[in-house]
Amino acid sequence: MTMPMTRMRYTLNQKVGDPKEWVYSWTLQDDQTISTQCDFCGQPEQRVTYEVTRGEERMWICQRCVGRYPVGGIVNGNRLPPHAARAQVHGLTARLKQQTCHEIIREIQRITTDPGIEEALVYFERNLQLSPQRAALLFAALPLLCRPVDTRIFEVQTRSTHHQEEFGTLDDNARTLVWSALSPLQCRRLASLGHAPSGVRRVLGRKHGQDTHQLTGSRMTDLSEPAGLHPAPISKERSAP
Ligand SMILES: [Zn+2]
Repeated sequence: MTMPMTRMRYTLNQKVGDPKEWVYSWTLQDDQTISTQCDFCGQPEQRVTYEVTRGEERMWICQRCVGRYPVGGIVNGNRLPPHAARAQVHGLTARLKQQTCHEIIREIQRITTDPGIEEALVYFERNLQLSPQRAALLFAALPLLCRPVDTRIFEVQTRSTHHQEEFGTLDDNARTLVWSALSPLQCRRLASLGHAPSGVRRVLGRKHGQDTHQLTGSRMTDLSEPAGLHPAPISKERSAP
């Protein structure tokens, strides 16, 4: 008997067997297009994945599977307990994410004469996040890279009143660009303050009263579409860390 609604349920790939037999290689991949699929659970649209090996076999697993399964970790010949292996993985993750964003901003800074990008770079180095205004500037320049970069890899500050107001002062195009990088929670908060870009306001108006399912992924696509920064993902290169 087949159940029609099982598409969103992720189960362990049968080839995995016992997760305890796998160990981390400590190699991570940061997919700037957020389109990698987890080899353990099959969940698509992953940003950071982790290489795990069993003898000659290798797989790339998602952050959720890191938390879910006791994959082994070996440091200096010693086998780490699962919680220590996870801590090691989390530390590497934070560093890699920052490094990726930093490199992208520097790459753009090298090919543009816009002093605003230089400022965005300095700002990012100081805060590891972008203010709405700097994010808008940077995202507008992203097409210079001639390759798809998902704006969601950047963290945009929207928690303080100052940053919320800054977002509100952006023109509609800039707001649409920045909106594509925000989490559903950030979007809801800014929308409640009346700051949603006009295109999104129309969509929200249509959906009003309906339950929103954040996990479907299609909602994410809706929100990131107006930016026009997400062409179809190209090759899924495994970039070395
Ligand atoms: Zn997974």
